[in-house]
Amino acid sequence: MAYDSVARASNEVAGRLAQRLASETSGEVLFTPADRGRYATDASIYQVVPVGVFVPRTAADTCIALDICRDLKVPMVPRGGGTSQCGQTVGAGLVIDFSKHVCNVLDINVPQRIVTVEPGIVLDRLNAQLKKLKLWYPVDVSTAAQATLGGMAGNNSCGSRSIAYGNMVHNVLGAQAWTSDGVLHRFGRFEDSTGAARAMGERVRDLAQALRPEIEERWPKVLRRVGGYNLDVFHNQNERPYTGDGSVNLAHLLIGSEGTLALTKSLTLRLSELPRARVLGVVNFPTFHQAMDSAQHIVKLGGEGSLTAVELVDRTMIELSLQNPAFAPTVRSALIGSPDAVLLVEFAGSDKAQLLRKLAELQELMGDLGLPGSVVLMPDETAQKNLWEVRKAGLNIMMSLKGDGKPVSFIEDCAVPLEHLAEYTSALTEVFHRHETRGTWYAHASVGTLHVRPILDMRTNGAPRMREIAQEASALVRKFKGAYSGEHGDGLCRGEWIQWQFGPKIDAAFGEIKRLFDPISLLSPQRIVNPPAMDDTRLMRFPPSYKVIPLVPALDWSGWDVQNDPATEQTTAPGTGGDPAKGLAKAVEMCNNNGHCRKFDAGTMCPSYRVTRDEQHLTRGRANTLRLAMSGQLGPDGLASEQVRQALDLCVSCKGCKRDCPTGVDMARMKIEFLHADRRKNGWSLKDRLVAQLPEYARLASRFAGLLNLRNRNGTLAALGEKFLGFSAKRGLPEWQARHFFNSGVTGATREQVLASDKPVVLFVDTFNGFFESANAHAAHRVLEAAGYTVHIAAKHGGDGKHLCCGRTYLASGMVDEAKAKAGELLRAMQPFAARGIAIVGLEPSCLLTLRDEMTAMGLGAPAQALAAQALLLEEFLAREAQAGKLETLRGKLRPLNQAVLVHGHCHQKAFGAIAPVLEVLRLVPGVQPQLIESSCCGMAGSFGYEARHHAVSMAMAELSLLPAVRAAPDAVVVADGTSCRHQIHDGAGRTAVHAAVLLAGQLAG
Ligand SMILES: Cc1cc2nc3c(=O)[nH]c(=O)nc-3n(C[C@H](O)[C@H](O)[C@H](O)COP(=O)(O)OP(=O)(O)OC[C@H]3O[C@@H](n4cnc5c(N)ncnc54)[C@H](O)[C@@H]3O)c2cc1C
Ligand code: SF4
Ligand code: SF4
Repeated sequence: MAYDSVARASNEVAGRLAQRLASETSGEVLFTPADRGRYATDASIYQVVPVGVFVPRTAADTCIALDICRDLKVPMVPRGGGTSQCGQTVGAGLVIDFSKHVCNVLDINVPQRIVTVEPGIVLDRLNAQLKKLKLWYPVDVSTAAQATLGGMAGNNSCGSRSIAYGNMVHNVLGAQAWTSDGVLHRFGRFEDSTGAARAMGERVRDLAQALRPEIEERWPKVLRRVGGYNLDVFHNQNERPYTGDGSVNLAHLLIGSEGTLALTKSLTLRLSELPRARVLGVVNFPTFHQAMDSAQHIVKLGGEGSLTAVELVDRTMIELSLQNPAFAPTVRSALIGSPDAVLLVEFAGSDKAQLLRKLAELQELMGDLGLPGSVVLMPDETAQKNLWEVRKAGLNIMMSLKGDGKPVSFIEDCAVPLEHLAEYTSALTEVFHRHETRGTWYAHASVGTLHVRPILDMRTNGAPRMREIAQEASALVRKFKGAYSGEHGDGLCRGEWIQWQFGPKIDAAFGEIKRLFDPISLLSPQRIVNPPAMDDTRLMRFPPSYKVIPLVPALDWSGWDVQNDPATEQTTAPGTGGDPAKGLAKAVEMCNNNGHCRKFDAGTMCPSYRVTRDEQHLTRGRANTLRLAMSGQLGPDGLASEQVRQALDLCVSCKGCKRDCPTGVDMARMKIEFLHADRRKNGWSLKDRLVAQLPEYARLASRFAGLLNLRNRNGTLAALGEKFLGFSAKRGLPEWQARHFFNSGVTGATREQVLASDKPVVLFVDTFNGFFESANAHAAHRVLEAAGYTVHIAAKHGGDGKHLCCGRTYLASGMVDEAKAKAGELLRAMQPFAARGIAIVGLEPSCLLTLRDEMTAMGLGAPAQALAAQALLLEEFLAREAQAGKLETLRGKLRPLNQAVLVHGHCHQKAFGAIAPVLEVLRLVPGVQPQLIESSCCGMAGSFGYEARHHAVSMAMAELSLLPAVRAAPDAVVVADGTSCRHQIHDGAGRTAVHAAVLLAGQLAG
């Protein structure tokens, strides 16, 4: 097989290749098994391990790498964000990742609305720069936050608004690209072309002319056709002409060529005016068929081009979205009753009043079609934006299905003419039924490209089923004269269908085009031309040989150890999935490589990637490393391997992915498993023990506060601490307090008193707020008492009455057994209160939320779940009570504050949706209008930022958004509930941030 021979040949030269790349270029050369493994997959079902990975720093690096690869006969596989769904970026040669460094805007011509960019720039980043110019690049793919322009060009990507703006090919004006002989060409208007580009263009023109009848007969006549090469630039078959003036642009030959013809150096793009206004009408349909049938009528409302999108969301997707707490309120606001499907119909333009008239026309049309009152009007842009986010997350929501059956992409974007859409979708649904599976439909109804993925188990019978379904689907596509590959490209998955679609003559012409541009087949060989079979399991991520190394995880992962029924999506009971790693492997495998974690917008995920921009420091990179390690693909050490350690080293356990990753990959919890496995094998360091056992020795240590705090005032001691313990000398450590909360004499109500009270609450004071920043604990106590609660201070029951610990510091060091012991102790003490429904209120997000998170995975049974249900952060508790009208006394006691208030949310607060209550509670103070800082992780993350080897990364994380925002508001009060966040703000911005409890207590009158 070609891939094998490529890989074998490459193994012989891999050393030389790496050595030459390292010495002749300034790029990054990544050749470890883990690096190669991380680049062996994209968002497809395939996996092929490349020879190595090269990350060019400059365009010149790319050119040199090309020369080296040509010399050594190593194929090259260009790559952007790696979000392709068909295996376009999966190949055995040298993968070139353009996304990290080669990502600049080279030129913007505002009057002419033209921009020239390097291929690695991400669409959202480009559009963020264009926004201030009131322009945008309108090929708005769902992966806009990850997709690079080079990758979008490679795939001829299409956005939700393609009905108004066209596909990638309609919006590219020119390209500079290297062919495999190392020559850099300028591809633009054919008639202006010269030299080799012109000669290649002429040859393609001759081919097109010779095949005119064939092209007319075989070429799909739809907007969405991305299969094969764009031979029809010389004889347009697309619904929308490729150029405004009917000319031919040679750059269009590269669009959709999937890296097989040339390596793109730069792209010149046509920009559009950013619409000044948008309105949305959500049409609710009682049946899916009616939705499909209506699409052809709705698109006619376009008229003068103001219709920009008609997007489908079906019943399954609606239900899945309603189950997601982040999406549910938005989805509910768009529904009338329980529709079987909705169409999102968008109009955009410069005149809002005219757009509103369009919405009225839509209502009228639906009345004419027998569905009066079926449209929810959304003239407000924030509401629209929220709904689009749900639609864009659609695929990812679907992919969160647990078990080995997964929705598989292989016929997901067939495009059919609109008048056949209803018939096509019904017939394909029947096909799925016959194969005992089902598919969820969504996306681009406006252009006849509905996405659908049947659920298949690729580890068992998925591959043959995939072929059977593909064959039946292709027959439907032919019947309705559609395009088999309508949006996501060919790659490994659809290459073999090119000949089926275009016939042998055009297919042969594609071969000739390939040889014209790349006669030595150096660029992404065996893609588009001479492709492998789609169901070759040797190229798959989960081939029959895939085996997980058995292990017993430290925490309970049984919820992932399930199987599902493809026809009903019902999952079996926890623990029955047959995972040799008791659910941990299946949890890791939930990552489908969609790349959603490669984003830089609001949200937390993934702070370390945001700083290093290395694939290994990305949630996806980490999940892939774990998957490869746990399945023995990185050697025998499994979870405890050095390569896993490196990948997880900069994971700050912020839990950003737990919330933001659409399939819920919870890397923070996985890191606990790694630490547990690693330290059991390699032992715990003194620093590990000092951090983990802090709750144990805190009481004793506080007696020597003065002595211990000397370290913060004496450079020599700090330097010694760095040398022997690894704590950065550049940091002050938290200050010990001789007089702390636990010896301050505050006793609170007894257990009996609180159990008997009609306004009871338990205050869980953690080690950090108890021993280091006891003012916070005192403040919380005061606030709760001022609000009229009977406050019991959580303490060990029966024993010595000392403070309780959630086990967090032990978990952070992988000492899971000790953490379980601590959690058990806490549980025993708190159980009577939890059983009575009494809130257990905490101050430190990472501690309190351990009760709601890790403690429920420690095998502590139903009591742990009961405790989790009552565990609340102070503000969550107060907000709940305020909503129930129980805080009127407190309200009356709070004095106004006329000062700006900035809030930085702790990552775990964000992960558990516990930020809104902080803002709500701060608003109880008259005059306070808190502003939330759009920040990711502060970078301190427990002990992470205190460690010398992490200091620079930690500061870089803080500088991403938090510290600049704090500096920009010199007069504001900064509220941060996390101990380490407050320290980071102090160290980085020289400002004292306070816990919300302190702000509230400070405003108490009297
Ligand atoms: C959840 C999800 C939703 C998606 N939604 C959409 C959607 O709405 N519309 C859509 O069209 N697609 C969609 N896709 C597919 C994919 O995101 C797009 O095709 C995207 O444009 C690919 O961008 P990328 O940077 O990830 O490219 P990659 O996947 O890295 O590469 C794409 C192709 O471009 C080639 N390439 C990359 N850089 C170069 C270069 N410098 N020179 C030559 N060739 C190069 C690669 O070899 C490859 O063939 C979706 C995918 C996922 C996972
Ligand atoms: S970790 Fe989550 S967001 Fe990242 S690629 Fe995997 S599934 Fe997507
Ligand atoms: S826990 Fe945070 S740092 Fe770690 S992978 Fe997830 S988002 Fe990234």
